[in-house]
Amino acid sequence: MTKKQKKVLVRIIISAVLVIGLQFISVDDPYIRLALFMVPYLIIGYDILKKAILGIVHGEVFDENFLMAVATVGAIALGEYLEGTAVMLFYQIGELFQSYAVGKSRKNITALMDIRPDYANVEQEGELVQVDPDEVSVGTIIIVQPGEKIPIDGIIAAGVSSLNTSALTGESLPREVAEGDEVISGCVNMSGVLRIRTTKEFGESTVSKILDLVENSSMKKSRSENFITRFARYYTPAVCIGALALALLPPIINFLIGNPANWAQWLIRALTTLVISCPCALVISIPLSFFGGIGGASAKGILVKGSNYLEALSQTAYVVCDKTGTLTKGVFEVSDLEPAEGMSREELLEIAAYAENYSNHPISKSLKEAYGKQIDSSRISDVQEIGGHGVTAMVDGRKVAAGNVKLMKQMQIAYRTPERIGTEVHVAVDGAYAGYILISDMVKPNAKEAVAGLKAAGVKQVVMLTGDAKDVAESVAHELGVDVVKSELLPADKVTEVEKLLEQKGKKEKLAFVGDGINDAPVLSRVDLGIAMGALGADAAIEAADIVLMDDNPEKIATAIGISRKTLRIVHQNIVFALAVKFVCLALGAVGTLNMWWAIFADVGVMIIAVLNATRALRYKKG
Ligand code: ADP
Ligand code: MG
Repeated sequence: MTKKQKKVLVRIIISAVLVIGLQFISVDDPYIRLALFMVPYLIIGYDILKKAILGIVHGEVFDENFLMAVATVGAIALGEYLEGTAVMLFYQIGELFQSYAVGKSRKNITALMDIRPDYANVEQEGELVQVDPDEVSVGTIIIVQPGEKIPIDGIIAAGVSSLNTSALTGESLPREVAEGDEVISGCVNMSGVLRIRTTKEFGESTVSKILDLVENSSMKKSRSENFITRFARYYTPAVCIGALALALLPPIINFLIGNPANWAQWLIRALTTLVISCPCALVISIPLSFFGGIGGASAKGILVKGSNYLEALSQTAYVVCDKTGTLTKGVFEVSDLEPAEGMSREELLEIAAYAENYSNHPISKSLKEAYGKQIDSSRISDVQEIGGHGVTAMVDGRKVAAGNVKLMKQMQIAYRTPERIGTEVHVAVDGAYAGYILISDMVKPNAKEAVAGLKAAGVKQVVMLTGDAKDVAESVAHELGVDVVKSELLPADKVTEVEKLLEQKGKKEKLAFVGDGINDAPVLSRVDLGIAMGALGADAAIEAADIVLMDDNPEKIATAIGISRKTLRIVHQNIVFALAVKFVCLALGAVGTLNMWWAIFADVGVMIIAVLNATRALRYKKG
């Protein structure tokens, strides 16, 4: 409990004791009786009264403080001191409970996201010193001991260890690392001492980016939340006008037709409806549900950048996937090398690796890996990457082109067609064909389950788009069981394909695109929901996408959909439940069946149930 909450609790106790005590003493003088009751009433209600008055001054009249102030002041004016004080008391108990629950689920989320490092160890004059991670510059060697969190992204300069990545990815399997491996902040070092050369500043490191995302995610409001805000804006004034009518009309009518007017009775009924109508259960429990859903997802390595995206996710009907790096590993192995005449196999691979040196494409990374030797970048100049085609560059003063068939056609170079299936990288030097390298990628081990999981989650169509050759694309599509496959697409063609689907889908259906962030940024920004794979690698992906899957595991898409559906179910339950109870109570209050005591119990009770229901969003079992 926070200090503020404790203060409220003390006020509740003192005021309750005083109210109970007052039941045992009988005071005849009405003014002294009023004065005595004002003590517990003001102790418990002064802040509400103050907020209500400030609200009126600022022109934001109709809020729950206003409702409570009018209802209780009215009750006291009618001589119902006990009721007036009790309503305020219960209202404060409800508010306290709610702020406690909100604080607790916030804490839950931060515990799940317990990745913020407090310090970094650096060596100064032979001794380990703890410094603020913000002060460590790029290229510094930091030392991470077993049990400590890696504070900043970097590359291991010395040491072997296994890393616990579960806080980031939700995966419990440790990851083995050794010298030369890239490591990201937020992982916990489990066994050996690691010396890490930092490659980023703390503010640019994975940890900071993720924490920013989580902290800002509640700013992007879902439609349900906006609905509630709008609803409260009309609802509260409407209720006040209704209460006013209830206080005035029946007595006036009674008076006109010659019955006793019963002013006091109708005023009490009107005040009771004011108490009942307080919309706090809805106002608090809906954002809390989304907060829980986002927190639950982040515990599974799924970062959702806002409630609106979680809401959209629950309506996903089409999932469009990129192939390379999303459904396949994006780690190609050379399966064939066919140099043209006058060129050796080694030479072909070397030229290709040099031309590809600056590209981030999985193909180029794999070629450099296959080449295996240090690349002397002074031999390379004028590099140009052509999306969906390949690269051109000057290597040792010769114009090298490396890429697919499209590139060769564009440059009007005659090429040979390999007999085996695989991704082809054709190479040309100074306009003459130099041979091809056939490489093959592997399907991710859980890609097939991922596609099946999406179907099971109710996704209508799983589509695969790729820039790769038709035969490769079709064999992968067949293996995974995707519904539709489109191949040999340029990045712009992918946008066209996605736009076709966007037109074809229903109004309430959402289209999600899953990619690795390489060559698919235009698509990511065009769709309803951009999901990026590989936050562990591609930086751009974290920024472009609405949802980031930390561990490259495509099965998490179905998990994310499951979490979003559960969250939305809770939100709808709360809306329906709270409104139903409200309307029933309002009707009963208006005809006088429900007194103010029941009114306040109904209000606080609904709120507690709604908040407890909302915290369920934090937990999701499957996946
Ligand atoms: P995908 O849809 O499979 O992710 P991309 O749009 O990234 O495909 O690339 C499409 C095709 O363009 C690749 O299959 C490859 O043939 C060619 N390509 C793209 N970039 C390169 C590169 N750097 N080197 C060689 N070929 C490339
Ligand atoms: Mg790609």
